[in-house]
Amino acid sequence: MELDFQKMPDQLIPAIVQDADTGQVLMLGYFNTEAWQQTQAQGRVTFYSRSKNRLWTKGETSGNYLQVVSLHADCDQDAVLVRARPDGPTCHRGTTSCFESEVPQEIGASLSGHPGPVPVGVGMPAPAVGLLVELDRLIERRRLHPAEEPGSYTVRLFEKGLARIAQKVGEEAVETIIDAMAGNRAGVAGEAADLVYHLLVLLRASGSSLDEMLAVLHQRHQRIGAGHRRPLPE
Ligand code: AMP
Ligand code: ZN
Ligand code: ZN
Ligand code: ZN
Repeated sequence: MELDFQKMPDQLIPAIVQDADTGQVLMLGYFNTEAWQQTQAQGRVTFYSRSKNRLWTKGETSGNYLQVVSLHADCDQDAVLVRARPDGPTCHRGTTSCFESEVPQEIGASLSGHPGPVPVGVGMPAPAVGLLVELDRLIERRRLHPAEEPGSYTVRLFEKGLARIAQKVGEEAVETIIDAMAGNRAGVAGEAADLVYHLLVLLRASGSSLDEMLAVLHQRHQRIGAGHRRPLPE
């Protein structure tokens, strides 16, 4: 991939790093030609640090490397999108993203459509669907490292085993149905949340994962996009 370094001041090209799974924007950095080559060769993000005035591999002291999933130049080759998997929090403050404030600051105005100052300094969450990925990661972490959070509900669920988890999915599905049929809008959202959470636990307890399920959805979605209609499930 060719980048147009000559066009840029100081021959530095800005790069946005995005979590490849959640879509969350993690940080902004700059590539010079060596950093760009090193990033491609090593599969880990290396930037040129303007404050350190040298090549800087993100994670070199913290261990929180950014493992490259894919690199994308923009339309005129003077900006890059890096899709990556972070080994840990990307910001040196310990937050997932550099665009996240540790403590939410004052919000200028509500987002309810009233004109007013634009909110600043509010934590930047992952896009809504990314929340599912974050939840799935947390669930898998509880499964693999129960000692980190011994009393947690998820840890206890895994201890009770597959049959109990499956039963919970059944219960939450029934509760969702009951609220839906009763026209209980708030109830149905809450029960659906319970259902999705328990379903994620069931997937992990079965050796599958949200990723695997999303891959199936993706495949089906593509087929529909390509005009191959499949019959709707009963
Ligand atoms: P690391 O690359 O994570 O080992 O951190 C090494 C040093 O780089 C930190 O002490 C910070 O000075 C700086 N640093 C780390 N992460 C960031 C970041 N996301 N944005 C800017 N500087 C950072
Ligand atoms: Zn551009
Ligand atoms: Zn930061
Ligand atoms: Zn429930």
